[in-house]
Amino acid sequence: MVFEPVIGLEVHAQLKTKTKIFCGCSTEFGRSPNANTCPVCTGMPGVLPVLNKQAVTFAIKAALATDCSIARQSRFDRKNYFYPDLPKGYQISQYAAPIAEHGHLDIETEEGGVKTIGITRIHMEEDAGKLIHDPIRAKSLVDLNRTGVPLIEIVSEPDIRTAKEAGAYLRKLHAILKYIDVCDGNMEEGSFRCDANISLRPVGQKEFGIRAELKNLNSFKHVEKAINYEIQRQTLFLEEGRAIVQETRLWDPDKNKTTSMRGKEEAHDYRYFPDPDLVPLIVDEKWIQSVTDQMPELPDKKKARFMAQFKLSALDAGQLTASLDLANYFEETISKLTDIKQAANWTMTTLMAMLNSKNLDIKCSPVKAPAFSKLLMLVEKGIINATTAKIVFDEMVESGKSPDIIVREKGLEQVSDHSELAKMVDAVIRDNPDEVAAFRGGKTKLFSFFMGQIMKKTQGKADPAIITPLLKTKL
Ligand code: ADP
Ligand code: MG
Ligand code: ZN
Repeated sequence: MVFEPVIGLEVHAQLKTKTKIFCGCSTEFGRSPNANTCPVCTGMPGVLPVLNKQAVTFAIKAALATDCSIARQSRFDRKNYFYPDLPKGYQISQYAAPIAEHGHLDIETEEGGVKTIGITRIHMEEDAGKLIHDPIRAKSLVDLNRTGVPLIEIVSEPDIRTAKEAGAYLRKLHAILKYIDVCDGNMEEGSFRCDANISLRPVGQKEFGIRAELKNLNSFKHVEKAINYEIQRQTLFLEEGRAIVQETRLWDPDKNKTTSMRGKEEAHDYRYFPDPDLVPLIVDEKWIQSVTDQMPELPDKKKARFMAQFKLSALDAGQLTASLDLANYFEETISKLTDIKQAANWTMTTLMAMLNSKNLDIKCSPVKAPAFSKLLMLVEKGIINATTAKIVFDEMVESGKSPDIIVREKGLEQVSDHSELAKMVDAVIRDNPDEVAAFRGGKTKLFSFFMGQIMKKTQGKADPAIITPLLKTKL
């Protein structure tokens, strides 16, 4: 029997507010433990939560960006459970009446098509604190700085079928949240984390199978690996006629496998009920309109514009708009250039390769957009050729110097003097009679040999646009 995977993702994204969702404490990451706390977020008796308006605005923005319909009235419930990182004994979360529902997000499939993934709901909630286990003193410490930090949970429909699609969905969602500037997207700090639900069903069957939920995957790579592992594990189970049990599993990135954390029987009954300390959340047309007015150009629109305005292929435009920072970098780079295709190639190959090798984000690039633009301008003007430009680029990365200074200091200007190059061509033809004879006898592949000889004489600085026709005529 052949099985088909069914995958649904739940993403928790931390909203970029300065203060927590129900109190005025700072949300700053990395402060000393419990520095960002007050009676409200430490759950002291008698305190009252007050909803952070900015958090709601950010949630509305996320809802608009994913084409959700926004509830004019939503509500906060209490999700009750005991855990030492949850001082109140309950988490305030939208459960029965979330702020947004019925959205979708388009991803590109491996075959180059577009697939729409449904978004079931987006709801707002507060984060819990963090336990730090100290094995030496055999003690656990609690840090409540994260307690009460605002989150949105974005729940997808079970529309995803492969680990690759899951990765594409997450990357797109991550990009969108950064584009609209509601989440910093820092996965190491837990600002964007994912639970993946996976089940298998025989191909052709309508009903879904029993699912396993993989908790807290904090990198795109881990998500894809964990899903693939889980598909393999469940396939093996079903092929052997064993039953899949509904359970929560954890991904172990060191062992490259998932292990069971808890089964369905151990699942919590959260006894949700409306939080009596909070009034219903009313979002009116005016609020929605003012957020709509602040919406930036989203990735799909930007990609379409890059294709239309800069005549780029879908592939190039897709890559260049995959992150807002990269798209901005590219637009700044080309603002004074004419050869856009060349700039796109340089950005996606030379620049990206350098950033990847140094594990740097484009924002931290040692070569900023204006300097990168200057370098490409030198190529456009024919002052240096592409080979020299690579050398200059490496030097820019190393020294941070401006490209024109590097070219001047090292004397890298392209040799474009026609009569000087003509003399060199004559010399190369004179010095290599055997190759000339072979070329004239039909071995036209030797053309690159002659080009190479001239490049050697000029340390790679000859202008190919001049020597190519010269060589062709003289040969
Ligand atoms: P819970 O919050 O208890 O985990 P939800 O009903 O909110 O449950 O579903 C969570 C996620 O699981 C959603 O993304 C949904 O699409 C997905 N899902 C539900 N059923 C299945 C299934 N049988 N196989 C795979 N994914 C599923
Ligand atoms: Mg779940
Ligand atoms: Zn507080």
